[in-house]
Amino acid sequence: MMDCIFCKIINKEIPSQIVYEDKDIFAFKDINPRAPVHILIIPKRHIPDISQIEPEDADLIGRIHVAAVKIAQEAGIAEQGYRLVNNCKENGGQEVYHLHFHLIGGRKLGAFAG
Ligand code: 5GP
Ligand code: ZN
Repeated sequence: MMDCIFCKIINKEIPSQIVYEDKDIFAFKDINPRAPVHILIIPKRHIPDISQIEPEDADLIGRIHVAAVKIAQEAGIAEQGYRLVNNCKENGGQEVYHLHFHLIGGRKLGAFAG
């Protein structure tokens, strides 16, 4: 996807602070962190939003969550806890249409209000 900012970040056409990378998954610090730790975890393949995953993506989505556990441990937020969030489309508050999970922690977060 030529016009996708996250595809450009994966391809390193746009710089980012990379925290994790494997053959299918990429993670980097959010440019506008809402907490001391705010990392975005994304598939390298361009999937616009979570509503567009297929049954064959189950392993990929599972491995993103396994990567999140590892990243949280390495970021030092695992013990006290964190939030792993996906925003889907307009009503979900999605702004970038390349599937991503926000890993947010390092402070006590407010109760999820929606
Ligand atoms: P959404 O609202 O789509 O769930 O979240 C998009 C997130 O991407 C936001 O938290 C925003 O700060 C982050 N973001 C947008 N553009 C960039 C960028 O160019 N670099 C980085 N590192 N994060 C970005
Ligand atoms: Zn993309």
